[in-house]
Amino acid sequence: MEYEAIIGMEVHAQVLTRSKMFCGCSADYASAPANTHTCPVCLALPGVLPVINRAAVEATVLTGLALSCTIPPFTKFDRKNYTYPDLPKGYQISQYDYPLCVGGHLDVQVAGESRRIGIRRVHLEEDTAKLTHTPDGSLIDFNRAGVPLMEIVTEADIRSADEAHAYLTELRTILRYLGVSSGDMERGAMRCEANVSLRPRGARAFGTKVEIKNLNSFRSVRNAIVYEIDRQSGLLASGGAVEQVTMGWDEERQCTVFQRSKEYAEDYRYFPEPDLPPIEMTPVEVQTIRERLPELPHDKAQRYEREFGIKSADVALLVAEHPTALFYEQAVAARPALAQAIANWMLGEVFRYLSEGERTTAELPISPAMLAELVALVDDGTINNTVGKQVLNEMMTSGEAAASIVERRGLAQISDTVALEQIITSVVAQHPGPVAQYREGESKVLGFLIGQAMRATQGKANVQIVRDLLLQALDDSQR
Ligand code: ADP
Ligand code: MG
Ligand code: ZN
Repeated sequence: MEYEAIIGMEVHAQVLTRSKMFCGCSADYASAPANTHTCPVCLALPGVLPVINRAAVEATVLTGLALSCTIPPFTKFDRKNYTYPDLPKGYQISQYDYPLCVGGHLDVQVAGESRRIGIRRVHLEEDTAKLTHTPDGSLIDFNRAGVPLMEIVTEADIRSADEAHAYLTELRTILRYLGVSSGDMERGAMRCEANVSLRPRGARAFGTKVEIKNLNSFRSVRNAIVYEIDRQSGLLASGGAVEQVTMGWDEERQCTVFQRSKEYAEDYRYFPEPDLPPIEMTPVEVQTIRERLPELPHDKAQRYEREFGIKSADVALLVAEHPTALFYEQAVAARPALAQAIANWMLGEVFRYLSEGERTTAELPISPAMLAELVALVDDGTINNTVGKQVLNEMMTSGEAAASIVERRGLAQISDTVALEQIITSVVAQHPGPVAQYREGESKVLGFLIGQAMRATQGKANVQIVRDLLLQALDDSQR
């Protein structure tokens, strides 16, 4: 029998706020010594009261709006009870039946096709402390306890590992565009779980799902889903049944391993958090947050194609990171007619510079207008393409403007026909062998002769003119 995979994703993303979810401690704990960002509230000392972090609520609503969710007028926090050393209160303040955002969707591109993934809910909760297990015992750092954490849950609309990968990539791009989370999986600022089940192709009902945890990179998500689909197919094909369990991804052995049997909502004894008031979101408040939405990657991509006529393959690369897209747009604003040429330089030389030094767009030593100026100098023929690359290199090192480098180093392209004719006459005279070969029909040697003429001008000649003049000279000498 042929099976179809059904996948739903649960993503936790730490919210980038100054303070923690329910206390005034700094949420920026990444490089802080252990247990220095703590107070009676996040350590759960007796008698303390939590206070809702408004910025975290707004960031979560902003995320929901970017995912086309509805923001219900009433929402509240609930206690999710469980016992684990990383949870000082013995319960986590989370949201159960009235989350901040419901019923959205995210469109992702997979193999040239658009797929719509439903978003069931986005809710807000608090992160747990961090446990480090050593041979001498377990260490606990409460700096992370109480950091705002949003959870984004999809409908079971994903059908393959590739779709899951595309969904996570697009979601992370959006979180970063919004500035609500770093989306950094290596640092644990974004974590995800995949729910995977199989059903006979054509069937309507879902099969029993397995939840996979410990997915620490996009690659492990993809590998774990592929592995789990394979494991479940084997099980079903041999007449077995899938059990509803939680499994962990073993990165070393590249397989899923049983962690525990499934826990159900009733196991958590959810009840409304009595220490916090419900939140009532008025349409005006939601509208105020909506106005903070930036142009999202998908809309940017469409606009670049429509307004600038940029190739769609290029567009995807330009909009993938918000700072890159903004850099590009500012460069285009300086030279609107050169949108595609600027895109080519961004995706070629600028991206190469960034990846070579593992730099980010923010670290570029040149401004968007400076890049636009360089592209214009190449476009209007002041310098040729090869010299353009050298000039850009120098700009990246010194921060000097393109025109100034061209002027100071005398790099302007030689388009003066009289000067170039002389050079070509001497190239033809100095290379009788290749010239004879060309005459005998070996047209390949033309490239060599062009190269010689370019060398004689330190690469500054206008290649098109050199080529025309050379062809003319070879023709003449043939007569
Ligand atoms: P649980 O109660 O186990 O947390 P939920 O109903 O909350 O399950 O769903 C968690 C995630 O699992 C969601 O993303 C949902 O879309 C997905 N999901 C639910 N049922 C299935 C299924 N049969 N196969 C795959 N994914 C599923
Ligand atoms: Mg769940
Ligand atoms: Zn605190």
